[in-house]
Amino acid sequence: MSDERITPSFYLSEFLITQQRGLDNMPKAVQLANIRNVLAPGMQAVRELLGAPVLISSGYRSPAVNKAVGGTSRSQHCQGLAADFTAPHFGSPLEICRKILDSTAIRFDQLIHEGSWVHISFVASEPRRQVLTAHFLPTGVVYSPGLSR
Ligand SMILES: [Zn+2]
Repeated sequence: MSDERITPSFYLSEFLITQQRGLDNMPKAVQLANIRNVLAPGMQAVRELLGAPVLISSGYRSPAVNKAVGGTSRSQHCQGLAADFTAPHFGSPLEICRKILDSTAIRFDQLIHEGSWVHISFVASEPRRQVLTAHFLPTGVVYSPGLSR
């Protein structure tokens, strides 16, 4: 697949990046349409709100990649609707979450403060606007409502 710019600030390849070398991470038509029509425009709005570069560490995840990173089978990453990111020139992940929450411009479905990154998802239908904080415990990840820490 050749790369292309799909919003003013993002290339398609930025949503297909994975640290799982060797695993196929090419979306099918449905997920590709979600990336183009839902996720990328959502991330563009985030980029404009923050006024700083947005670095995506994980967008779309193929079933193989999702399994390798221990994601849940219902993960919105697998639908091409979620992205994990940082924006170091703007501030910490917590500061990013607060900025997004304070704005009405970002119609997110789910926003999770993951500690060292931000997880955000978008949907074509009415968004839930769910906000969570992840806690990484020895027994696994636990999510609490709202922003803490
Ligand atoms: Zn995520």
